[in-house]
Amino acid sequence: MAGLKRLFNKGWWVIPHPFQPEDLRYWRVKLMQNIQFILQLYTGIFFFLNIFLFDYLLMAAADAILFGGILALQIDLRKHLNIERSARLLIGIIVIFLGMYFVLAHGRNYSFIWFSMVPLLAFFLLGLRLGLYVSGGFLAALVAFIIWFSPQWPSYAINLPAVFNIALALVAVLTISRHYEKSREEAFNFLAKRNRELEVLARTDTLTQLKNRSHLDDVLEQELERAHRYQHELAVLILDTDHFKTLNDNYGHLVGDQVLKELSQVLSAQIRASDILGRWGGEEFLVIAPNTDEEGAVELAEKIRIAVAEHRFTEQKLHLTVSIGCTDCLDEDTIISIVQRADNGLYQAKHDGRNCTRLGKAARAAVH
Ligand code: GH3
Ligand code: MG
Ligand code: MG
Repeated sequence: MAGLKRLFNKGWWVIPHPFQPEDLRYWRVKLMQNIQFILQLYTGIFFFLNIFLFDYLLMAAADAILFGGILALQIDLRKHLNIERSARLLIGIIVIFLGMYFVLAHGRNYSFIWFSMVPLLAFFLLGLRLGLYVSGGFLAALVAFIIWFSPQWPSYAINLPAVFNIALALVAVLTISRHYEKSREEAFNFLAKRNRELEVLARTDTLTQLKNRSHLDDVLEQELERAHRYQHELAVLILDTDHFKTLNDNYGHLVGDQVLKELSQVLSAQIRASDILGRWGGEEFLVIAPNTDEEGAVELAEKIRIAVAEHRFTEQKLHLTVSIGCTDCLDEDTIISIVQRADNGLYQAKHDGRNCTRLGKAARAAVH
């Protein structure tokens, strides 16, 4: 089955195009390409059958005209990829051919069963509005024709060719319906996957691949709620790289970027799997440590601080230090108050000469 599919997707009738499955044009081209191929196959075979077997030259001529029309359409679509024009022409050709077939066949062999294909094709290829006009107009014309001419037609029994015709038409309807559902399903899956990728992208810092500020905000809110509800400990650490501006000035922004990337790896290596690390802003990072009290927060901060101070960054073996402010969670804390307190600690650490850790005090406590 897969081999057959690959073969079918490789022939000369395949129209090359740049569209993705989330684009309706992708499915329209695919449907047109397949219909064109099937119609060529069908008219090619029936052209010879009508001449040599059924001795029905008029129908053979109709087959030849349709074959030529489809070929011209195929060439045009391949050359210009004007989907709207090709879709209208294809529907036009199909409608004219079905009409001709119906008139020539005098309704024999239940030829009108093929008309059930028209609305499916018209809606898919022409869209809601034009699809409605074309299929509505066509079906109305068909009913009018049947009412007008049917008294002159002899009645027909369901013979073998009739059964064959009905079966073939129903297979065509089934195939087009399947195409409908497949296009819907694949486009939906494609978009769902895209959405997931975008979501990850929107939550990730592009330079360090750590969680970004907005993701950290979400996580902090969740962790605070959990800490309040279950009376768990929760610690927050804010790290700021010391004299980073000087490093940028001396070595350039690209080296600065490289240092930040490396720093994010050093930090990641120091935290527990349950801790959350992210980039808070420029050269500042935030660690959220659930189930960690004040003492644990200072311990973690010192471990991080020492690891950074001992690391040599980039090929230039640069020294770098960080100042860290930390705090644990109080009962009445909000995101703003807990971060503010950690930030107070950071301010104090900078004030005390950098490369150190300070516990943040609430603003009220700092005044006294
Ligand atoms: P301090 O010890 O007081 O923190 O000094 P500092 O120089 O680190 O502080 P300041 O806030 O004045 O400077 C931060 C610098 O970080 C300035 C900015 O250009 C740099 N920076 C922020 N984001 C990036 C980044 O993504 N890449 C690079 N290369 N530099 C950045
Ligand atoms: Mg800073
Ligand atoms: Mg800094």
